[in-house]
Amino acid sequence: MHFLRRLFGGNHTHRERDDAIHLYVECGRCHAVVHVRVDPRNDLMPEYGDSDDLVGYRLIKEIMDSRCFRLMRAEIEYDARRREISRTIEGGAFITRDEYEQRRTSPPSSSRD
Ligand SMILES: [Zn+2]
Repeated sequence: MHFLRRLFGGNHTHRERDDAIHLYVECGRCHAVVHVRVDPRNDLMPEYGDSDDLVGYRLIKEIMDSRCFRLMRAEIEYDARRREISRTIEGGAFITRDEYEQRRTSPPSSSRD
């Protein structure tokens, strides 16, 4: 049955699920784009309500770009099922993964029309 494994296994040697959270941000000062991978098991802080029941999670991540090295601070709230409720960032802006890929591969020109 080795061929089945090859069919479905792809090149994933580990069966571990990647439940990482990926953040894509743009520095508010130099406009460099940054990608951060967050491990929920380490970085998500559980929040408890009055009766000690889990009400959700909070993620606070400090992000630094590699151009001007200014620190940005992202804060994301999740409900108890880890669905995102809200996100804010100081010192920068959230961008989509597509934007990140585009801008990473094409270096920004100095002209901004
Ligand atoms: Zn910057």
